[in-house]
Amino acid sequence: PRTPVSVIGLGLMGQALAAAFLRAGHPTTVWNRTASKADRLVAEGARLAPSVGDAVAAGSLTVVCLTDYQAVRDLLGADGVDPDGATLVNLTSGDSAQAREAARWAGQRGARYLDGAIMAVPPAIGTAEAMILHSGAEADFQEHEAALGALGTVTYLGADHGLASLYDVAGLAMMWSVLNAWLQGTALLRTAGVDAGTFAPFARQIAAGVAEWLPGYAEQIDSGSFPAEVSALETDARAMAHLVEESEAVGVNAELPKLIKAMADRAIAAGHGKEQYPVLIEEFAKPGGE
Ligand code: NDP
Repeated sequence: PRTPVSVIGLGLMGQALAAAFLRAGHPTTVWNRTASKADRLVAEGARLAPSVGDAVAAGSLTVVCLTDYQAVRDLLGADGVDPDGATLVNLTSGDSAQAREAARWAGQRGARYLDGAIMAVPPAIGTAEAMILHSGAEADFQEHEAALGALGTVTYLGADHGLASLYDVAGLAMMWSVLNAWLQGTALLRTAGVDAGTFAPFARQIAAGVAEWLPGYAEQIDSGSFPAEVSALETDARAMAHLVEESEAVGVNAELPKLIKAMADRAIAAGHGKEQYPVLIEEFAKPGGE
């Protein structure tokens, strides 16, 4: 018999989560503030809990997916909800401090708490493409890994409850940086009549090539030593100046190239011009950007 689960919050994501549990054969209890969003799930075999408290009490695993952490706190902190003895898996998006605070809050009430971040859209839930990250006590994860696996490819990150949120934003930083670089290149090439579709395979090859550098560059960052094995930062900064000048000359947006060059210039001013690109971590690792 599959683990009985409860899903609290049936927005676009919560409905997909509950449907995936049902498809995997888990007895599934659902609850949503707007009860009508449970109709389709109930038709597919879910049980609609009469109250949040009932939903928390029903499953050995309670998955929560609401708009934000404040909504989670308001809902689970309400009268008539007793999380004592429950295992809560909070898949609501938030920041690392909110995740750690939610873990404290749940712990004080006798609940076991795993935080999680969903790096997928609702239609992918229940397939291997859905990447779902978890952080919290490893024993809690292991106990429920099989059930959580119904939702997608689940990964355990570590005991710090804030890790899932941090990986979530780190992943977004990667995603947007790659996309923005591609859009910059596309804007440049379109001024010469080259369309996005023509540039895309070339851009893809560059992105894949750069991705190959990451493990070696990570060793430099982790060891704090940045010998210029292939290129010095001051050489890169000259290429950045070309990117800025070309962008301005052909009349496309130069904000992003200027931002990147400003960071490199600061690192060079701090004496890092003869070191390799990842020395810029020192610029990224301090406050700035107000
Ligand atoms: P929706 O806006 O579709 O759903 C929000 C849910 O939160 C609804 O069930 C809503 O209830 C409930 N809710 C909000 N405030 C309260 C409250 N005060 N009390 C009780 N219930 C409340 O959002 P999604 O389902 O798309 O997203 C949910 C979470 O999943 C978010 O944190 C989002 O960032 C994350 N996520 C979503 C992804 C996506 O592609 N959709 C991708 C990755 C993460 P009601 O129906 O009554 O309004």
